[in-house]
Amino acid sequence: MPLFAALLLLLAPWQPPVDPEATAAPDLVEITALDPTIRLDIRYATPRNFLGRPVYSEARAFLQRPAAEALVRAHRRLKTEGYGIVVFDAYRPWSVTRLFWEATPDDKKHFVADPSKGSRHNRGCAVDVSLYDLRTGRLVQMPSEYDEMTPRAYPDYRGGPRRARRLRDLLRRAMEAEGFDVYEYEWWHFDYRGWRRYPVLDLPFSALP
Ligand SMILES: [Zn+2]
Repeated sequence: MPLFAALLLLLAPWQPPVDPEATAAPDLVEITALDPTIRLDIRYATPRNFLGRPVYSEARAFLQRPAAEALVRAHRRLKTEGYGIVVFDAYRPWSVTRLFWEATPDDKKHFVADPSKGSRHNRGCAVDVSLYDLRTGRLVQMPSEYDEMTPRAYPDYRGGPRRARRLRDLLRRAMEAEGFDVYEYEWWHFDYRGWRRYPVLDLPFSALP
C-alpha cells in the first residue's frame, strides 16, 4: 500500500460516531418477516455493485420497526397501481459505510455517507428501493441504474424515457405518503423521518434476530 493511502486509513475514524440525540432503543426487524411479498435484490451481497465484489455475507434487509412498517404500507399502496417494492439495501453496518467512503473518489463523495457522521442506513432508517411489475415480476426501468453516480440518479432529473420518470415519481409519492424523504442525489434512497432518534450501529447481520 502506498504511504499516502496508509496515512489516510490511519486518519479515518475507527469507531462509529455517538449521537447524543439518538435515545431510542434499536429494534431492527427483517423486512420480509413483515411482508414476504416485498422483494429483495441485495446488491451488496453480490458483485453487482459499485465495488464489484460482495460486502455482505448474507442477502438480508433490516429496518427499525416503525420504518419497516411504513415501508410495508408503501408497498401495499403501490399494489393498487400494479407494482411492488424491491429492496436493494436497508440497514447497513457502519464499517461498510467506512469501506464505501474509502473506495469512492473525492468528486463522487456526495453519493456516499461520511463515516465520521454515519449514515441513516447505519441507523436502520434508510432504505434503497425500486419497483417491480406485479404481472411480470421484473424490475421496472428507472431513469438510472441503482448506485449510478451521475445526474440521471437525481430524483428531479428530467431526461430519459417518460415512463421511467413516471415510475420514479410514483415510487417517491408512495414513500413520501408513508413518512419517507427522498435523498436529493438518488431517486432510490429514502430516509425515514425520525431517523435522528436511532443510534449509528455496527452490528453485523449475523448478530440480528
Ligand atoms: Zn441509500
